[in-house]
Amino acid sequence: MTDPDCLFCKIVSKDVPAQLVLDRDDVLAFRDVNPQAPTHVLVIPKQHVASLEAVPDDGGQLLASLVAACNEVAREDGVAGAYRLVTNIGRGAGQSVDHLHLHVLGGRGMTWPPG
Ligand code: AMP
Repeated sequence: MTDPDCLFCKIVSKDVPAQLVLDRDDVLAFRDVNPQAPTHVLVIPKQHVASLEAVPDDGGQLLASLVAACNEVAREDGVAGAYRLVTNIGRGAGQSVDHLHLHVLGGRGMTWPPG
């Protein structure tokens, strides 16, 4: 399923260009256009899912694919063992694109709590 008005669906369909890092059957990864760390990659399902909160109860395989892709991105970018995964859910938490994405952030020190 795709949403014709969704920016990340347009990246999946290649109607909007992106710097791709990984392209799998069900998952795509590309560099964030406004990076917050030396490694800042977005890992998304190719199907349109609005956020982590919208993953269906039978979405275990999708989540496994996303996590595997994040780990692969971290290895290939040389940040395995020291990176952060972030997903924002809803405007109040900072979600600006309503298509599930995991931010893979690494290559610099991280503070806690996040802002
Ligand atoms: P969030 O605010 O958690 O929804 O994250 C959305 C992210 O998408 C932000 O970090 C943006 O910088 C990033 N972004 C927006 N448009 C693009 C684009 N065309 N290509 C790559 N990253 C984008």
